[in-house]
Amino acid sequence: MSINFEYGISKILCEKKAREYRCIPISINRGKISIAISEGVAMDIFTRINEIFNELGFVDKGYVYLSDNEIERLINTYYSIELDNPQVGAQINSFKKLRDIEGLYDYIIKKSNLLSASDIHILYENEYFIIRLRIRGKLKTLTILDKDLGESLIRIIKVSSNIEISRIRSPKDARFKYTLLNQEIDMRVSIVNTIENEKISVRILNPDNVPVNLKDLGISFEEEEIIRRTLRLNSGFVLVCGPTGSGKSTTLRCLLNEINDGLRHIISIEDPIEYTMSGITQIQIDETKEGSFKESLKSIVRQDPDVIYIGEIRDYESADIATKASLTGHLVFSTLHTRSSVSAIERIVNLGIDSASLVSSINLIINQRLAGVLCDECKQERIYEGEDIKELNLTNGQKIWEPLGCEKCNYSGYYKNVPIMDIVVFTDTTRECILRGEIPKIKNHKIKEKIALMLSKGEIELKEALKYLWY
Ligand SMILES: [Zn+2]
Repeated sequence: MSINFEYGISKILCEKKAREYRCIPISINRGKISIAISEGVAMDIFTRINEIFNELGFVDKGYVYLSDNEIERLINTYYSIELDNPQVGAQINSFKKLRDIEGLYDYIIKKSNLLSASDIHILYENEYFIIRLRIRGKLKTLTILDKDLGESLIRIIKVSSNIEISRIRSPKDARFKYTLLNQEIDMRVSIVNTIENEKISVRILNPDNVPVNLKDLGISFEEEEIIRRTLRLNSGFVLVCGPTGSGKSTTLRCLLNEINDGLRHIISIEDPIEYTMSGITQIQIDETKEGSFKESLKSIVRQDPDVIYIGEIRDYESADIATKASLTGHLVFSTLHTRSSVSAIERIVNLGIDSASLVSSINLIINQRLAGVLCDECKQERIYEGEDIKELNLTNGQKIWEPLGCEKCNYSGYYKNVPIMDIVVFTDTTRECILRGEIPKIKNHKIKEKIALMLSKGEIELKEALKYLWY
């Protein structure tokens, strides 16, 4: 259902109350306020909402009943950083008033960078362009622009990245560089044509915003030490697995930096190369050329490497080279898109690799997820009401915490993203077990245990914990 949303009206009710009472003001017409509320609203809550708006001076009210999901989406979309923060609000407002699109464009990029956003999304909805930032993994609206301003913004981004100005027909990918404080930042642009308009995503590849060293990752000291022991070896295979968005490549980047001491020749084959790392020979695969990946794979071994990083094990060739190289005096790193250590081994064996040589080549498998740790300054306490969840040690009536967002956490509600790891070190005993077919011996539930612990300590929210429980 499309509703006539007036951006800025939501400000009448603070975000905290909107979340608490599951409602959001959507428009005002001749003094009459329209409020979207959850269709399942209880009578006492409804009375309270009515009172709140009376207190705010709105006696004439109309209610629009929406599903609870839709209310959640509206709150998440229309409460923006611009409305939250008077300073940001004043800045953006002056650009809007002057129709200064160049100024606004610079401001959006600078602000995104300041807030450590990884992506800028520009999407069209109800005649508006919504500018959203991905901060620590979660989307947060920065501002909302009218159609004209939004289209001008898209035009500037297209010009910067050499994409045709007219509405595109097929998806386009491009890159451009943005100079910020004497530093060139790579921006990766992707544009698609949607039913309503164009949708743009800009990935900000600022190396300053991602952890570079093992100690910055946020894992425990014991975990760091286990990993460091493996990195001292001269040969073997280190695999990092986990679903999309679990921070695999960030972990790998930290691992490589840890051993990048100028004494070992490190060579990588990645697609795409996200961050350039000095001291490492990085090969970019030319996807437009068929067989480019295979050719590059073959060439790396001839480059006399000590350490090889293959961005992802995706076929027999990459699995074969990784195994063979690690058995012949190279330290090999790679990632695999699986959800457990066991399935990582199974996957590689299914690609056609002999299980005995695979198992003898592996030193370490890190299976990981990425969890947003709640901001201590603004997290909200709540009592959990619902069925007990045994896997999370959660019982009815227990205290849990939820994110809100404040200046300190850049309005994300989260302090930082931390990888939650299940590290399996391959000792000779582990290897023998696996070769005897006792794979379940390495099945580990550390991720679930850690999630349950973080939930009880109020470090993560229930929604996040549940997400990791089922996969
Ligand atoms: Zn906060």
